[in-house]
Amino acid sequence: MNNSDHNDHISAALLQRSDELNEIPNLSPDENGFIHSKALVLKDFIIFPKMISPIFVTEMNDIQVIMEVLEAKSTLIGVVKRNEDDSFFEIGIEFAIGKLIDLGEGNYSALIQGRRRVAIKETIETDSGYEVKALPALEIQDYDKTTKALCKITLDLFTQCVQLDRSLPEDIGVYVMSISEIDWQADVIASAISLPLEKRINILQMVNIQQRLEFINSSLAQELDVLRIEDDLQSKVQREVDKNQREFYLREQIKAIQLELGERDIWEQEIIEYQQKIGKMVLPDEVRKTANKELSRLKEGPSFSPEMGIIRSYLDWIMELPWTEQTEDNLDINHAISILEENHFGLKKAKDRVLEYLAVENLGKGETKQPILCFVGPPGTGKTSLGKSIAQSLGRKFVRLSLGGIRDEAEIRGHRRTYIGALPGRVIQTMRRAGTINPVFMLDEVDKIGNDFRGDPAAALLEVLDREQNYAFSDHYLEMSYDLSKIMFITTANSTDSIPSALLDRMEIIEFPGYIEEEKMEIAKQFLIPRQLEENGLKNISIELPDKTISKIIRDFTYEAGVRNLEREIGKIFRKIARQYTEIHSVPTLVTVNMVDEFLGPPKYFFFEAGEEDEAGTAMAIAWTENGGEIMPVEVLITDGKGNLQITGQVGNVMQESAQAALSYLKSKSTSFKLKKLDFEKIDIHIHIPEGAIPKDGPSAGVTITTALISALTKRKVYKDIGMTGEITLRGKVLPVGGIREKITAARRAGIKRIIIPRKNEKDLVEIPKSALEGLEILKVDHLDEVLEISLYPSTN
Ligand code: ADP
Repeated sequence: MNNSDHNDHISAALLQRSDELNEIPNLSPDENGFIHSKALVLKDFIIFPKMISPIFVTEMNDIQVIMEVLEAKSTLIGVVKRNEDDSFFEIGIEFAIGKLIDLGEGNYSALIQGRRRVAIKETIETDSGYEVKALPALEIQDYDKTTKALCKITLDLFTQCVQLDRSLPEDIGVYVMSISEIDWQADVIASAISLPLEKRINILQMVNIQQRLEFINSSLAQELDVLRIEDDLQSKVQREVDKNQREFYLREQIKAIQLELGERDIWEQEIIEYQQKIGKMVLPDEVRKTANKELSRLKEGPSFSPEMGIIRSYLDWIMELPWTEQTEDNLDINHAISILEENHFGLKKAKDRVLEYLAVENLGKGETKQPILCFVGPPGTGKTSLGKSIAQSLGRKFVRLSLGGIRDEAEIRGHRRTYIGALPGRVIQTMRRAGTINPVFMLDEVDKIGNDFRGDPAAALLEVLDREQNYAFSDHYLEMSYDLSKIMFITTANSTDSIPSALLDRMEIIEFPGYIEEEKMEIAKQFLIPRQLEENGLKNISIELPDKTISKIIRDFTYEAGVRNLEREIGKIFRKIARQYTEIHSVPTLVTVNMVDEFLGPPKYFFFEAGEEDEAGTAMAIAWTENGGEIMPVEVLITDGKGNLQITGQVGNVMQESAQAALSYLKSKSTSFKLKKLDFEKIDIHIHIPEGAIPKDGPSAGVTITTALISALTKRKVYKDIGMTGEITLRGKVLPVGGIREKITAARRAGIKRIIIPRKNEKDLVEIPKSALEGLEILKVDHLDEVLEISLYPSTN
């Protein structure tokens, strides 16, 4: 049996108790004070004493029981089952039930009226359901002071809730006040507020009135907290709307007053200006037609009506948007090469791809259908600036639109202009900024675009990017098609993982992998330092940053794959120098390493250095994070235990799985590792990957975890100067991994001399400058056995 509608509790509680229900007497006790009755199991709802509520009955057994009870004009007892073990709660409720109303298809509804709490003493299961023996709760007549005080608090809290909660009927406060019994008041309040079922069951169990009031008070206090926050938000929104509307009407009123004062011609003058401007513009036919139509509506209407305001801002949009203006492309490849080289260090792959793109564009005279380029890489790796250079070399305008956090299709496509304050979508807004129909249009953060009930912005974006459709892009506000087909779109993302796949299909990915220290140093020298000198007014003063200084800034003050923070820190140093210059008219010509500490404060980051001594149970992984390469020790501890494997250190699922795989491999090979006597069921293995609270994941620590495990179990030490990376299969094969370039530079920086990499990654070594490999021994392996051979001390027996 279920409650038909939760909210009906409230209204039903306020209902006059129906006469029919009132006529049914309570159960009379036997000579020992017990009452005996049929029982119904209450599911999904609870009724409190004296409350009235409608219910649904669908189960045959329940219907049977109710019929019998109705026949006997008797009440019955509701019992509640515990979820955990099917046993019954100690307290149930005696209630009366009214006539069953047939709802068809075997469903019935009826009104029920709670009578009193009863303590269930015995439950007997029969063929037709349950029968119980119970003891009615005593009715208290006199309440002590504490109870009265508690009740006052409850009433107080409840009154506040009623004021704030719009879903509660206003007169319920008065109704509760009019009740003289505290018990009853408490139960009405418990019925009225929206509590989860478990709490309602709890309240039913509380025969002790003080305990019940305390519980209700704490629920009310929580409810009030939530209501206050909601109320706060609500009034903020209301204020904002009121303000906008007031401003709008005030403005319109001013216009109306001006008209009254005989300034009618201002209005007419305005219309003439619109007419002239539109007349002069070069517009596609459809646009001109629409504009003229709106103009004539403007002429007809009264100037102060809100609709005229809407028409005016629509016309403003039409006039400010580029419809035909376009820049002439400069498709001279040599010009492009020189601009790309001038503005960017490195980025060879990206530059080559861009030049190919331009070459094809050149040959096809812009008629070819080339894929949309998508620049993928960590922040600060030059994606935006390369986009700007492309625009510069083509002689096109450059605009950007960030898609991060856009969840609503209307943000892309705009709102219909039926309401005040409607605007075109972001794409059209950005085109107004561009001022030409063929800009280089960068869509940032395609990987952060959202999707929810307000429509799918990714779908709208697909239409924007699709050359088959985008010559007639429809924006809800404009209500006519807008040509996006001349635009060169470039998208950017930090990673491809979360780009919607339909979008990913249309794009060609160009990776911006992140810079190694040597590259950062060059970028700093050639670009960042000169730019920051200029920005801080130090252009004409000679200040030099030696390599050592730059390297210190990179290592101790930045932690990134790109160069954004590096530029920021350099800027900080220059600002301090500029200030010194204005104060004492002298500046250092050389910024030494010590001065960096002085200017920037204590180091922000510490590089993890290779270990001091060879140890058993620790091996060094070389990993790749969004911030670039990094080394991280993998530590293994074996203790007596029960065969548990624990892995800690902000480790993701894939890494956890690699640990499981490592252990399985090891178990399968226990003979060859001379671990035959070891009982894995009697030990616990704890793997820990320290180094800050940086989340780590990915399969590439597989070989390291396995090596550390074997070292811990066999007590063979690991050479401290070795770092390793590689995924491992259950049979010990070593599979290739990503980010080799960043990994190797990070390892070198940390003082690692020998680096184990999967043989399949050999090809990635080509991308690494010779200088970055100096003093390193790179060991390529196919199988874990080779890794162990290289990295572990020889077995002693
Ligand atoms: P992203 O768009 O990838 O976040 P930006 O293009 O905004 O990165 O680059 C951040 C800063 O770093 C810019 O000032 C840019 O000029 C500079 N920068 C990044 N990579 C290079 C590079 N290869 N050569 C010159 N400057 C670079």
